[in-house]
Amino acid sequence: MRILLLSDIHANLEALEASLAAAPSFDAVVNLGDIVGYGASPNEVTARSRDLGKIFVRGNHDKAVTGLLELDDFNPMAASAAIWTRNALTSQNLDWLRALPQGPIALPDFPQVQLVHGSPNDEDEYVVSLGDALAPLITRTTPLTFFGHTHLQGGFFVNDSSADGFRPEYRTVGQAESIPLQLKAEARYLINPGSVGQPRDGDWRAAFALYDTDAQVVHFRRTPYNLKVAQDRIFAAKLPPRLATRLAAGR
Ligand code: ZN
Repeated sequence: MRILLLSDIHANLEALEASLAAAPSFDAVVNLGDIVGYGASPNEVTARSRDLGKIFVRGNHDKAVTGLLELDDFNPMAASAAIWTRNALTSQNLDWLRALPQGPIALPDFPQVQLVHGSPNDEDEYVVSLGDALAPLITRTTPLTFFGHTHLQGGFFVNDSSADGFRPEYRTVGQAESIPLQLKAEARYLINPGSVGQPRDGDWRAAFALYDTDAQVVHFRRTPYNLKVAQDRIFAAKLPPRLATRLAAGR
């Protein structure tokens, strides 16, 4: 089975459509949350996400926009985008986002794989460093966890003799590219497919991944998208302009 892994789309319709166009054939879609927030196409991205699949975990922005999380912990830019998004969403889409499940959840038919937005230990925790990753990697027995939230593509592993982090190393800065990671049976992994709609690893291209369950390979992917259209929508919506400019830098 080939599973398309999407995370942190953040209402960026252009990045989502480019990712779907660039993705090779897949059997199912997993969405790791933060469908909305920051970007200017929350209804379009929510509708597209709903059409694509049934496997979701909720993100902190999905919670904040729908009133499940106080805005106190958000910086002013994120908070103002959350309020804008709440006002822009249809009541139907708000209800649907509010009902998204809390992670971690098991991947249907693959109990050795779990899905979460932040950390397996806390859905809102950021797993940025190896230190952050070690606690869930050591205390949890699930061999493979897919997570999002940091907007950093890559991940962490632990086996009997070592532990480390990894990032895919691409050759270009503007082409569609794919980098495979062969999973080893003796290791446990935390893997982030990266952010579709607001990457923060210095690469502006939309990030996503494909998990081949038969071959046990995760294919990290980047694809260029129509940045200008996504930015112009943010300017036109009178969202904080920095939300548009940061997309170009991937920060
Ligand atoms: Zn996010």
